[in-house]
Formats: sequence, structure tokens, C-alpha cells
Amino acid sequence: MFNKVLIANRGEIALRVLRACKELGIATVAVHSTADESAMHVKLADESVCIGPPPSRDSYLNIHQIVAACEITGADAVHPGYGFLSENAKFAEILEAHEITFIGPTAQHISIMGDKIEAKRTAARLGIPVVPGSEGGVSDEREAKRIAADIGYPVIIKATAGGGGRGMKVARTEDDLVVALQTARSEAGAAFGNDEVYIEKFLGKPRHIEVQVVGDGKGAGVHLGERDCSLQRRHQKVWEEANSPALNAKQRKEIGEICANAVAEMGYRGAGTVEFLYENGEFYFIEMNTRLQVEHPVTEAITGIDLVHEQLRVAAGAGLSVRQSEITFEGHAIECRINAEDARTFMPSPGTITHYHTPGGLGVRVDSGVYAGYRIPPYYDSLIGKLIVHGRNRVECMMRLRRCLDEFVVDGIKSTLPLFQDLVQNIDIANGDYDIHWLEKYLAASSAP
Ligand code: ADP
Repeated sequence: MFNKVLIANRGEIALRVLRACKELGIATVAVHSTADESAMHVKLADESVCIGPPPSRDSYLNIHQIVAACEITGADAVHPGYGFLSENAKFAEILEAHEITFIGPTAQHISIMGDKIEAKRTAARLGIPVVPGSEGGVSDEREAKRIAADIGYPVIIKATAGGGGRGMKVARTEDDLVVALQTARSEAGAAFGNDEVYIEKFLGKPRHIEVQVVGDGKGAGVHLGERDCSLQRRHQKVWEEANSPALNAKQRKEIGEICANAVAEMGYRGAGTVEFLYENGEFYFIEMNTRLQVEHPVTEAITGIDLVHEQLRVAAGAGLSVRQSEITFEGHAIECRINAEDARTFMPSPGTITHYHTPGGLGVRVDSGVYAGYRIPPYYDSLIGKLIVHGRNRVECMMRLRRCLDEFVVDGIKSTLPLFQDLVQNIDIANGDYDIHWLEKYLAASSAP
């Protein structure tokens, strides 16, 4: 196992990783920008190193400073958390060149999954169901028309280099397609410096369902079930649950095994998430994230498995702690991402938290890096914390969530707590009856005069 792990991140996820390291007896190094001197991850780490000024590109994204911090402190591994450098193949490569372990997959696997066309091709080769569409980039109009006619309208045009849901255009007819192709290309060129696009069947009312996998890098792979993250605003997940209200045990086992086998066959090392759109009983691969996800605690709640422990183990070559047959799914878990934003307008609300009280009790977990008196800096994402609630079934989980939301106090700044207080009482949510467009429609309707 490692002696000392440097955590190349901030906020709740830095703290989350730090906790796992402590439990395994591993010393921790926090890095921080000058804006984060009083952050919780800095206070709780064994050592800390300031790596630059507030803007992320000068600190949390500054590879040279982070490598230097490893050398100064003698850290033998780096955990990247999520975001920042977690899916940066060059970072993984540079660390390996310095004989520092990157706690994640190989640079090669990060690169494959970072390229949308390559990822889809790899997924299809490994037996994962993909969205019907073009094999690769589409260059001319004739080819585009042929492919669209083949898969049937509506279709969606996506930028190969796209991300964050940007650079997508839907075409419902052949006339639409000609215009959409041109605009998608020019937008992709301007936004990503690469105007290559590809075509897929457009799914009208899908759910977002993702499968958690872990591979040991030596040919073993397991799945830890799925998460349903259909409740999204502007492609950002807001509420996540495990299991998905839409799947039964047989479907869970089938899609889980497909993903676990793919991971094993790839020789994938580390935690990963295979993301799907799900419609009419069919799964359609959209991408694979080669890192820990924000919403990983719902999986931990129903499996009792610490995913960061597993990441540390496989990175150190110690293998997985569990076999597939030992992984079971108990009850139901829901996570709410509570942001420092106005619950109606979603305007960011940085500032000082004056009072802070978190709920507790059986089945309740709060992952957060804030405290009373803490000032949320304006430079980074607006996550205050994640409330994760577990119950023996979905009804118990929802009732528990409702009482936790009533207990939660964040004063001094605005938060999205009121949004969750509304959602937990909504009939569609209670029935688990929602798709990826549900939340935006609900927000539009509730803000209408
Ligand atoms: P990005 O990397 O930009 O986030 P994704 O491929 O993950 O791109 O897609 C982001 C979102 O766009 C999906 O979660 C879904 O809401 C929508 N989307 C992507 N592909 C399709 C599709 N074929 N049909 C319908 N919606 C889609």
C-alpha cells in the first residue's frame, strides 16, 4: 500500500479521499490555492502545500506545481478526485514518468474514453450496447443524409470534441439536417477547435442510468449496480439514486455483467462509470468516465463498499477486496447536491456561511467541506455539500430524506435546499416517474407567472 497520498483536489471530494486514506493508515498531503488556506481538507491533512493563486489553471490544474508538491513531500501516489486533472491523460503520464502512482486508469484508457468516437467504437467492440449512428466522424452532407435515413429521424449531431452537453443539434427532417450539420460544425470549430461531428439516433424521453465498475488492471472487473441520474438541469446532475426506479434485478444483472466483462477484457484499472441513456427497455452507451463520480456515495450506501478504498487498493496492485458474487444491493439511497445558488434562479451565491447544521441519524451521510464561518470562494464550483440518505426501501428513503431536508440549516448564503424540499414532495418523483427532461420542465412550469 502507499505511504503517502497527495490529493490533487479541493472541497468535499478532497475530504472524502482523505478519510479513506486515514482509514487505511496512509498519510495525506493536501494541496491548495491561496483562496483555500482555511479549507477543511487543508486543516485535516497531515501536510499541506500551497500550489498557487485562486484561478484553477494556476493552482489545481497546474501540473508542474502538483508534481513539485509530490517531490517536496515525498508522496508516492496522487488521487485526482473528480474534475480538475482527473481525466487528463498527460497528467497521468507525467506522474508515472516521475514514478508517482496516478490513482486511476492508465493514460491510454483515459485517452480512449476521452475521445467520443473512439470510446463508442471501443464500447461496441466490448459488447456494450451503443446508440445507433455513424461509425465515425461525418464529413459530407450526402453521407449524413444516408446515415440519418438509415437510422431514422430524429437524429442528433454531436461534436467529437464536445463536452458538458455542448455542441449538439437535433434534426427532425432531412431539411433540418442540412442546417444542423452546418451549425454544429461551425459551433464545434469555434468552441473546441475541432469541427468534426458525428450522428446518432435522437432519444426523446430517455433516463440517464450509469453503471459503476471497478477493474484491477489485471483482467478482473466487477460492477456495483447502477445509479439513476435523470434529474438534471443543463446537463448537470441534481439528484441521484441507487437503484434506478426503472430497473428490476434481472435488468440490473444483465447490464452490470456486460459492463464488468468489458472492464475485465480491457484490463481496466480503477473505478469507472459507464453511462447510458435508457429508453423503452434499451440501453444506449453515451460515455465512460474514467474516475470517481460525484454521486458515488449512493452506490456505497447500497453496497457497503468504499469505492475510494477500492481505488487505492487496485492502484497499489493489491487487487479488489470483493468478488462479484459477494456484492449485494441493500435498500435504496438518494443523493441531493446542495449548491450555493438561489433555488429559483440558480444564480451563484458565494459568501460566508453564518450558521451550519447538518442532519444526522440512521442512514444519513453528509459529504461536505464547509463549516460555520467558512467563506465559499467565488472561484470554484458552487457545491456546498451532498446529502446522502439510505433506507430499507425507496419509501423509507424518501421519508428520511424529507426529514433530513427539514433539519439541514445553511445560513448566510442562498442554497438549493428549498428545491429539494419541493422535489421530495412531488408525486412524479415519489413514483420514480421522470426522464432527463423532467426537471427542466418542472422548473419552467414552477417559475411561470
Ligand atoms: P457531453 O460529454 O457533452 O456531456 P454526452 O454524450 O454525455 O455529452 O451527452 C450529454 C447529454 O446530451 C446526455 O446526458 C443527454 O441529455 C443528451 N444526449 C446525448 N446524446 C443523445 C441522444 N442520442 N439522444 C438524446 N439525447 C442525447
